[in-house]
Amino acid sequence: MTDRRSFLQAGALAVGALGLPRSARAAAADAGPRVVSTWDFGVGANQVAWKTLTAGGSALDAVEQGARWAESELCNPTVGRCGNPDRDGNLSLDASIMDGDGRCGSVAALIDILHPVSVARRVMEQTPHVMLVGQGAQAFAVEQGFPRGKLLTPAAEKAWRAWLQTAEYAPQINAERRTLPGDSSNHDTLGILARDAQGRLAGACTTSGMAWKMQGRVGDSPIIGAGLYVDNEVGAATASGVGEEMIRNVASFLVVELMRQGRSPAEACREAIARVVRKRPEASRTLQVCFLAMNRDGEVGAYALHRGFVYAVCDAQRQDGLHDADSVYRTEQA
Ligand code: ASP
Repeated sequence: MTDRRSFLQAGALAVGALGLPRSARAAAADAGPRVVSTWDFGVGANQVAWKTLTAGGSALDAVEQGARWAESELCNPTVGRCGNPDRDGNLSLDASIMDGDGRCGSVAALIDILHPVSVARRVMEQTPHVMLVGQGAQAFAVEQGFPRGKLLTPAAEKAWRAWLQTAEYAPQINAERRTLPGDSSNHDTLGILARDAQGRLAGACTTSGMAWKMQGRVGDSPIIGAGLYVDNEVGAATASGVGEEMIRNVASFLVVELMRQGRSPAEACREAIARVVRKRPEASRTLQVCFLAMNRDGEVGAYALHRGFVYAVCDAQRQDGLHDADSVYRTEQA
Protein backbone atom coordinates (compact mmCIF):
# COMPACT_ATOMS: atom_id res chain seq x y z
CA MET A 1 0.00 0.00 0.00
CA THR A 2 1.29 3.48 -0.75
CA ASP A 3 0.37 6.88 0.60
CA ARG A 4 1.26 10.43 -0.27
CA ARG A 5 4.45 10.33 1.76
CA SER A 6 5.64 7.21 0.05
CA PHE A 7 6.48 8.02 -3.51
CA LEU A 8 8.56 6.65 -6.26
CA GLN A 9 10.98 9.15 -7.65
CA ALA A 10 10.39 7.76 -11.09
CA GLY A 11 11.27 11.01 -12.77
CA ALA A 12 14.63 11.29 -11.03
CA LEU A 13 15.45 7.66 -11.75
CA ALA A 14 14.44 7.93 -15.39
CA VAL A 15 16.31 11.16 -16.02
CA GLY A 16 19.37 9.95 -14.12
CA ALA A 17 21.06 13.31 -14.59
CA LEU A 18 20.14 15.00 -11.37
CA GLY A 19 22.93 15.91 -8.99
CA LEU A 20 23.45 13.39 -6.23
CA PRO A 21 22.63 14.46 -2.68
CA ARG A 22 25.69 14.90 -0.52
CA SER A 23 24.63 12.10 1.80
CA ALA A 24 25.06 9.62 -1.05
CA ARG A 25 28.69 10.52 -1.39
CA ALA A 26 29.91 9.37 1.98
CA ALA A 27 33.62 9.53 1.47
CA ALA A 28 35.63 11.59 -0.94
CA ALA A 29 38.27 9.84 -2.95
CA ASP A 30 41.68 10.13 -1.35
CA ALA A 31 43.26 6.85 -2.42
CA GLY A 32 43.95 5.72 1.19
CA PRO A 33 43.00 2.38 2.72
CA ARG A 34 39.30 2.17 3.53
CA VAL A 35 36.76 -0.40 4.67
CA VAL A 36 32.99 -0.14 4.17
CA SER A 37 30.24 -2.44 5.40
CA THR A 38 26.48 -2.80 5.31
CA TRP A 39 24.25 -1.87 8.25
CA ASP A 40 24.99 -0.44 11.66
CA PHE A 41 26.80 -3.57 12.83
CA GLY A 42 29.21 -2.89 9.96
CA VAL A 43 30.99 -0.50 12.33
CA GLY A 44 32.22 -3.43 14.40
CA ALA A 45 33.22 -5.47 11.35
CA ASN A 46 35.05 -2.47 9.88
CA GLN A 47 37.07 -1.97 13.03
CA VAL A 48 38.26 -5.58 13.02
CA ALA A 49 39.08 -5.31 9.30
CA TRP A 50 40.89 -2.02 9.90
CA LYS A 51 43.08 -3.60 12.57
CA THR A 52 44.00 -6.30 10.08
CA LEU A 53 44.87 -3.71 7.42
CA THR A 54 46.95 -1.56 9.76
CA ALA A 55 48.82 -4.67 10.94
CA GLY A 56 49.92 -5.22 7.34
CA GLY A 57 47.15 -7.57 6.21
CA SER A 58 45.81 -7.48 2.68
CA ALA A 59 42.33 -6.29 1.68
CA LEU A 60 41.40 -9.98 1.40
CA ASP A 61 42.58 -10.72 4.95
CA ALA A 62 40.71 -7.65 6.18
CA VAL A 63 37.32 -8.58 4.73
CA GLU A 64 37.68 -12.15 5.96
CA GLN A 65 38.45 -11.01 9.50
CA GLY A 66 35.60 -8.47 9.47
CA ALA A 67 33.16 -11.14 8.32
CA ARG A 68 34.45 -13.64 10.90
CA TRP A 69 33.71 -11.08 13.60
CA ALA A 70 30.12 -10.83 12.40
CA GLU A 71 29.78 -14.61 12.27
CA SER A 72 30.92 -15.30 15.81
CA GLU A 73 31.01 -12.11 17.92
CA LEU A 74 27.94 -10.26 16.70
CA CYS A 75 24.90 -12.06 18.03
CA ASN A 76 22.42 -11.03 15.37
CA PRO A 77 19.38 -12.98 14.15
CA THR A 78 20.38 -12.63 10.51
CA VAL A 79 24.14 -13.30 10.40
CA GLY A 80 26.26 -16.13 11.75
CA ARG A 81 25.76 -18.28 14.82
CA CYS A 82 22.70 -16.40 16.19
CA GLY A 83 20.88 -16.40 12.87
CA ASN A 84 17.26 -17.41 12.54
CA PRO A 85 16.67 -20.80 10.89
CA ASP A 86 14.72 -21.89 7.84
CA ARG A 87 11.08 -22.95 8.16
CA ASP A 88 12.13 -26.46 9.23
CA GLY A 89 14.32 -25.15 12.04
CA ASN A 90 17.73 -25.55 10.35
CA LEU A 91 20.22 -22.69 10.61
CA SER A 92 22.05 -22.67 7.28
CA LEU A 93 24.68 -20.09 6.40
CA ASP A 94 25.82 -18.56 3.10
CA ALA A 95 29.08 -16.67 2.46
CA SER A 96 31.37 -15.50 -0.30
CA ILE A 97 34.74 -13.83 -0.70
CA MET A 98 36.42 -12.27 -3.72
CA ASP A 99 39.56 -10.33 -4.54
CA GLY A 100 40.15 -7.75 -7.22
CA ASP A 101 41.94 -10.21 -9.51
CA GLY A 102 38.79 -12.28 -9.94
CA ARG A 103 39.69 -15.02 -7.47
CA CYS A 104 36.59 -16.04 -5.55
CA GLY A 105 34.99 -18.71 -3.42
CA SER A 106 31.65 -19.30 -1.78
CA VAL A 107 29.56 -21.69 0.27
CA ALA A 108 25.79 -22.00 0.50
CA ALA A 109 23.39 -23.85 2.79
CA LEU A 110 26.27 -24.68 5.13
CA ILE A 111 25.12 -26.20 8.42
CA ASP A 112 26.91 -26.39 11.80
CA ILE A 113 30.11 -24.62 10.75
CA LEU A 114 30.82 -21.33 12.54
CA HIS A 115 32.87 -19.50 9.91
CA PRO A 116 31.43 -19.90 6.41
CA VAL A 117 33.51 -16.97 5.10
CA SER A 118 36.73 -18.81 5.92
CA VAL A 119 35.40 -21.98 4.30
CA ALA A 120 34.61 -19.84 1.24
CA ARG A 121 38.21 -18.62 1.23
CA ARG A 122 39.45 -22.23 1.39
CA VAL A 123 37.17 -23.11 -1.55
CA MET A 124 38.87 -20.28 -3.43
CA GLU A 125 42.40 -21.23 -2.43
CA GLN A 126 42.30 -25.01 -2.09
CA THR A 127 39.89 -26.28 -4.73
CA PRO A 128 39.44 -25.97 -8.49
CA HIS A 129 35.88 -24.72 -7.83
CA VAL A 130 34.15 -21.49 -6.89
CA MET A 131 31.13 -22.71 -4.94
CA LEU A 132 30.31 -25.64 -2.66
CA VAL A 133 26.87 -26.21 -1.17
CA GLY A 134 25.11 -28.20 1.53
CA GLN A 135 26.61 -31.50 2.61
CA GLY A 136 29.53 -31.18 0.21
CA ALA A 137 30.46 -27.81 1.66
CA GLN A 138 30.19 -29.18 5.18
CA ALA A 139 32.34 -32.25 4.38
CA PHE A 140 34.97 -29.99 2.79
CA ALA A 141 34.96 -27.71 5.86
CA VAL A 142 35.44 -30.64 8.23
CA GLU A 143 38.20 -32.05 6.03
CA GLN A 144 39.89 -28.64 6.20
CA GLY A 145 39.81 -28.75 10.01
CA PHE A 146 36.81 -26.51 10.74
CA PRO A 147 35.02 -27.79 13.86
CA ARG A 148 31.47 -28.98 13.40
CA GLY A 149 28.91 -28.18 16.11
CA LYS A 150 25.25 -27.28 16.47
CA LEU A 151 24.79 -23.54 16.04
CA LEU A 152 21.08 -22.83 16.52
CA THR A 153 20.74 -20.70 19.66
CA PRO A 154 17.85 -21.19 22.13
CA ALA A 155 16.65 -17.65 21.25
CA ALA A 156 16.57 -18.46 17.52
CA GLU A 157 14.76 -21.72 18.20
CA LYS A 158 12.21 -19.84 20.30
CA ALA A 159 11.73 -17.26 17.52
CA TRP A 160 11.20 -20.08 15.02
CA ARG A 161 8.60 -21.77 17.24
CA ALA A 162 6.81 -18.43 17.60
CA TRP A 163 6.92 -17.97 13.81
CA LEU A 164 5.37 -21.43 13.33
CA GLN A 165 2.17 -20.10 14.92
CA THR A 166 1.44 -18.17 11.74
CA ALA A 167 4.07 -19.64 9.39
CA GLU A 168 3.69 -16.56 7.20
CA TYR A 169 6.68 -15.77 5.00
CA ALA A 170 6.61 -11.98 4.70
CA PRO A 171 10.03 -10.32 4.64
CA GLN A 172 10.02 -7.04 6.56
CA ILE A 173 11.61 -3.89 5.23
CA ASN A 174 14.60 -2.94 7.36
CA ALA A 175 14.06 -5.73 9.82
CA GLU A 176 17.86 -5.68 9.69
CA ARG A 177 18.13 -2.77 12.04
CA ARG A 178 16.52 -4.60 14.93
CA THR A 179 19.63 -6.40 16.02
CA LEU A 180 18.41 -7.90 19.27
CA PRO A 181 18.82 -11.65 19.54
CA GLY A 182 15.61 -13.59 19.28
CA ASP A 183 13.62 -10.97 17.38
CA SER A 184 11.73 -11.87 14.26
CA SER A 185 13.92 -10.24 11.63
CA ASN A 186 13.62 -11.87 8.27
CA HIS A 187 16.83 -10.92 6.55
CA ASP A 188 20.18 -9.24 6.72
CA THR A 189 23.73 -9.60 5.47
CA LEU A 190 27.12 -8.28 6.33
CA GLY A 191 28.67 -7.14 3.06
CA ILE A 192 32.17 -5.75 3.53
CA LEU A 193 34.52 -4.15 0.98
CA ALA A 194 38.12 -3.11 1.58
CA ARG A 195 40.88 -1.25 -0.19
CA ASP A 196 44.39 -1.75 1.17
CA ALA A 197 47.45 0.50 1.06
CA GLN A 198 48.55 -1.07 -2.24
CA GLY A 199 45.19 -0.19 -3.80
CA ARG A 200 44.04 -3.82 -3.93
CA LEU A 201 40.33 -4.41 -3.44
CA ALA A 202 38.48 -7.32 -1.85
CA GLY A 203 35.01 -8.09 -0.57
CA ALA A 204 33.06 -10.63 1.46
CA CYS A 205 29.44 -11.41 2.35
CA THR A 206 28.11 -13.50 5.18
CA THR A 207 24.51 -14.20 6.15
CA SER A 208 22.02 -16.70 7.49
CA GLY A 209 19.83 -15.58 4.58
CA MET A 210 16.11 -15.02 4.81
CA ALA A 211 14.66 -16.27 8.06
CA TRP A 212 11.96 -18.89 7.55
CA LYS A 213 13.19 -19.55 4.01
CA MET A 214 12.44 -22.89 2.37
CA GLN A 215 15.02 -25.54 3.14
CA GLY A 216 17.69 -25.34 0.44
CA ARG A 217 16.92 -21.74 -0.54
CA VAL A 218 20.05 -19.85 -1.53
CA GLY A 219 20.12 -16.06 -1.65
CA ASP A 220 22.40 -13.62 -3.42
CA SER A 221 25.19 -13.45 -0.85
CA PRO A 222 27.13 -16.56 -1.94
CA ILE A 223 26.47 -15.94 -5.64
CA ILE A 224 29.38 -14.11 -7.21
CA GLY A 225 28.01 -11.20 -9.23
CA ALA A 226 24.72 -11.06 -7.30
CA GLY A 227 25.66 -10.33 -3.67
CA LEU A 228 29.31 -9.47 -4.28
CA TYR A 229 31.61 -8.46 -7.10
CA VAL A 230 35.14 -7.05 -7.08
CA ASP A 231 37.43 -5.88 -9.87
CA ASN A 232 40.70 -4.05 -9.15
CA GLU A 233 40.37 -2.17 -12.44
CA VAL A 234 37.07 -0.60 -11.42
CA GLY A 235 35.77 -1.14 -7.90
CA ALA A 236 33.68 -3.40 -5.70
CA ALA A 237 30.01 -3.76 -4.81
CA THR A 238 27.90 -5.71 -2.36
CA ALA A 239 24.23 -5.98 -1.53
CA SER A 240 21.73 -6.63 1.21
CA GLY A 241 17.99 -7.15 1.18
CA VAL A 242 15.80 -9.73 -0.50
CA GLY A 243 18.37 -11.72 -2.44
CA GLU A 244 16.05 -12.93 -5.17
CA GLU A 245 16.01 -9.37 -6.56
CA MET A 246 19.82 -9.21 -6.67
CA ILE A 247 20.03 -12.58 -8.41
CA ARG A 248 17.47 -11.50 -11.03
CA ASN A 249 19.57 -8.46 -11.86
CA VAL A 250 23.09 -9.91 -11.27
CA ALA A 251 23.16 -6.73 -9.29
CA SER A 252 26.64 -6.40 -7.77
CA PHE A 253 28.20 -7.12 -11.14
CA LEU A 254 25.84 -4.56 -12.64
CA VAL A 255 26.99 -1.91 -10.14
CA VAL A 256 30.65 -2.59 -10.95
CA GLU A 257 29.97 -2.50 -14.69
CA LEU A 258 28.14 0.81 -14.33
CA MET A 259 31.18 2.20 -12.52
CA ARG A 260 33.31 0.88 -15.36
CA GLN A 261 31.22 2.98 -17.71
CA GLY A 262 32.05 6.07 -15.66
CA ARG A 263 29.35 6.28 -12.99
CA SER A 264 30.33 7.23 -9.46
CA PRO A 265 29.63 4.51 -6.86
CA ALA A 266 26.44 6.30 -5.73
CA GLU A 267 25.23 6.80 -9.30
CA ALA A 268 25.91 3.14 -10.11
CA CYS A 269 24.00 1.97 -7.03
CA ARG A 270 21.10 4.27 -7.86
CA GLU A 271 20.91 3.03 -11.42
CA ALA A 272 20.98 -0.59 -10.30
CA ILE A 273 18.11 0.14 -7.91
CA ALA A 274 16.23 1.75 -10.80
CA ARG A 275 16.67 -1.50 -12.72
CA VAL A 276 15.11 -3.45 -9.81
CA VAL A 277 12.15 -1.05 -9.79
CA ARG A 278 11.66 -1.22 -13.55
CA LYS A 279 11.64 -5.01 -13.56
CA ARG A 280 9.22 -5.46 -10.65
CA PRO A 281 7.56 -2.15 -9.78
CA GLU A 282 4.91 -3.62 -7.49
CA ALA A 283 7.25 -5.94 -5.60
CA SER A 284 9.71 -3.11 -5.12
CA ARG A 285 7.21 -1.32 -2.89
CA THR A 286 7.26 -4.05 -0.28
CA LEU A 287 10.82 -5.42 -0.40
CA GLN A 288 14.10 -3.89 0.68
CA VAL A 289 17.12 -3.94 -1.66
CA CYS A 290 20.34 -2.09 -0.82
CA PHE A 291 23.63 -1.61 -2.66
CA LEU A 292 26.98 -0.43 -1.35
CA ALA A 293 29.96 0.26 -3.63
CA MET A 294 33.50 1.58 -3.52
CA ASN A 295 35.50 2.43 -6.61
CA ARG A 296 39.20 1.78 -7.01
CA ASP A 297 40.01 5.29 -5.75
CA GLY A 298 38.19 4.60 -2.50
CA GLU A 299 35.11 6.71 -3.28
CA VAL A 300 32.04 5.21 -1.59
CA GLY A 301 28.35 5.31 -2.51
CA ALA A 302 25.13 3.52 -1.62
CA TYR A 303 21.48 3.48 -2.57
CA ALA A 304 18.42 1.54 -1.39
CA LEU A 305 14.85 0.93 -2.40
CA HIS A 306 13.52 2.03 0.99
CA ARG A 307 14.72 4.49 3.56
CA GLY A 308 16.60 2.97 6.48
CA PHE A 309 19.68 1.42 4.90
CA VAL A 310 22.79 2.53 6.76
CA TYR A 311 26.39 1.71 5.96
CA ALA A 312 29.63 2.02 7.88
CA VAL A 313 32.82 3.64 6.58
CA CYS A 314 36.21 3.28 8.24
CA ASP A 315 39.47 4.94 7.21
CA ALA A 316 42.47 6.74 8.70
CA GLN A 317 40.33 9.77 9.59
CA ARG A 318 37.46 7.97 11.27
CA GLN A 319 36.88 4.38 12.28
CA ASP A 320 33.21 4.49 13.26
CA GLY A 321 31.51 6.45 10.50
CA LEU A 322 27.87 5.55 9.84
CA HIS A 323 25.89 7.00 6.93
CA ASP A 324 22.29 6.95 5.73
CA ALA A 325 21.82 5.79 2.16
CA ASP A 326 19.42 7.66 -0.07
CA SER A 327 16.45 5.68 -1.30
CA VAL A 328 13.72 5.55 -3.89
CA TYR A 329 10.92 5.37 -1.37
CA ARG A 330 11.13 7.86 1.41
CA THR A 331 9.12 6.06 4.06
CA GLU A 332 10.36 2.97 5.87
CA GLN A 333 7.27 1.02 4.80
CA ALA A 334 5.76 1.70 1.40
N1 ASP B 1 20.53 -10.86 0.87
C1 ASP B 1 20.30 -11.83 1.89
C2 ASP B 1 19.58 -13.03 1.29
O1 ASP B 1 18.71 -12.86 0.48
C3 ASP B 1 19.54 -11.32 3.05
C4 ASP B 1 19.75 -9.87 3.41
O2 ASP B 1 20.74 -9.28 3.11
O3 ASP B 1 18.88 -9.27 4.00
O4 ASP B 1 19.88 -14.12 1.68
